[in-house]
Amino acid sequence: MTDPIAIALHGGAGPRRTLNYDRQEAHLRGLAEQGRARLKAGDAALDVVVDMVRALEASGLYVAGKGSSPNKAGIYELDASVMDGALRRAGAVAALTGFESPVDCARAVMDKTLHVMLAGQGAADFCVAQGLKRIDDPAAYYTPAATGAPDAELGHGTVGAVARDAQGRLAAATSTGGVLNKVPGRVGDSPLIGAGTWADERVAISCTGQGEFFIRAAAAADVSARMRYGGETLEQATAGALADMKRQGGDGGMIAVDAHGAVAMPFMSEGMKRACAVGDDPVVSGVF
Ligand code: ASP
Repeated sequence: MTDPIAIALHGGAGPRRTLNYDRQEAHLRGLAEQGRARLKAGDAALDVVVDMVRALEASGLYVAGKGSSPNKAGIYELDASVMDGALRRAGAVAALTGFESPVDCARAVMDKTLHVMLAGQGAADFCVAQGLKRIDDPAAYYTPAATGAPDAELGHGTVGAVARDAQGRLAAATSTGGVLNKVPGRVGDSPLIGAGTWADERVAISCTGQGEFFIRAAAAADVSARMRYGGETLEQATAGALADMKRQGGDGGMIAVDAHGAVAMPFMSEGMKRACAVGDDPVVSGVF
């Protein structure tokens, strides 16, 4: 039997049991079906994960893209990254202001430059030159999804997608508004290749949670290393990488797909909005 196509999505590891996430879960399920259809039609994992993350950003339902919250200075600084496992290419933007789809900006960095990450004014100038969609009036555009969260001080959220296509290629993409009330200039794990996002020929991963801890654990790259050097299964490797992150004092989760189409969506936080579709199996989703 050939290995199946697979897609997994997350909408962040910030949910609180006191709130209802039915809309987000239904949205993630719909995108998992869309992603599955695209992969079945032969589309590349890379294109599908970027398109799914762009849709998550545009929905305003998560702390990413339109649903992001401003930093302490009232500025919307967003992070995103993408990685193409088959060719080991990557692109990222950090603390980017003024663009609708940070993941499109990350893809442009990967496709159109010799670099992996752009930040600051240079990133913005590059995105303008690429004709990427700008936000003229941030106050009118953003609709912070985390407004009303009981403990906004600690709140955070992110979106991500990982996929295996019919040719066995793996890809991952992650986009975030970061943690609420962050200090201006703060960059989390999401745009850092190997911390919040990773894809190679073995596995693709997108993380969510308190980014500082994922950075200190090199969490996404650790999953691949555990599989490569330790011979661990996807399930063991994701659980082991998360446990190491948690030992440092953090919380959160991750979605991952391996070269055989196995999917893992573990989390050590209260919840993680998530959905996946593998081959022709029914969509699996959850929040808590
Ligand atoms: N990891 C993200 C960050 O620290 C936040 C999140 O995933 O909720 O920026």
